[in-house]
Amino acid sequence: MIIASKKPIEEIIQEITPYSRILILGCNECVTVCEAGGKKEVEVLASALRIFCLSQGIEKTIGEHTLERQCDHEYLEEIRNMVDDYDAIVSLACGVGVQFAAEKYLTMPLLPGVNTVCLGANEDRGLWTERCQACGSCVLARTGGICPVSRCAKRVLNGPCGGSTNGKCEISKDTDCAWQLIIDRLKALDKMDDYEAVAPVKDWSKDRAGGPRTVTREDVKI
Ligand code: SF4
Ligand code: SF4
Repeated sequence: MIIASKKPIEEIIQEITPYSRILILGCNECVTVCEAGGKKEVEVLASALRIFCLSQGIEKTIGEHTLERQCDHEYLEEIRNMVDDYDAIVSLACGVGVQFAAEKYLTMPLLPGVNTVCLGANEDRGLWTERCQACGSCVLARTGGICPVSRCAKRVLNGPCGGSTNGKCEISKDTDCAWQLIIDRLKALDKMDDYEAVAPVKDWSKDRAGGPRTVTREDVKI
């Protein structure tokens, strides 16, 4: 899922300074699961902003709403009748949701309420870790299901760089060496032949360096 983290409230206060009527807009999907931008976080942020305004003698209207998804035209339509009541929206969705809402409501300022961080997994309570950088050409089949693109600091694709110590990456003793994980998994799978084989040149044209990407599925188009 997409992992996001809450923005510091000081940054949000600064963002909303020019506006009097602000809608805090949450999303029920990834940002709810990673506890950064769901209904609960909308309520907490709205309350904190109201308390701040009261304590400073500032008059602002702070509204709340949470959509099923902000990266979907259908759900974004749900606020069509509400937006005229506000001067700005603080969106707690990921960067995709913020941009989609901005495209839909052209004259409405859309302010991000979270920082979108990565594609990751919920490894433990309160711990989310990166697992994929959406490179567009997945190599997991030959790396034992461990991603060297997102989990190796140097993104090396043909074995470790030589800098790891005791299974940890040279960038930090707290970070597993992705290639140690890959080797351990390939051993467990009895597929060390995959490790010995020289990896084919990866097609990076499908990665972000080629500019914004599009996925088209003729079979699901209406
Ligand atoms: S190889 Fe690419 S698509 Fe596959 S998990 Fe890694 S970053 Fe994601
Ligand atoms: S130590 Fe391992 S994870 Fe770190 S950069 Fe080298 S190969 Fe990649």
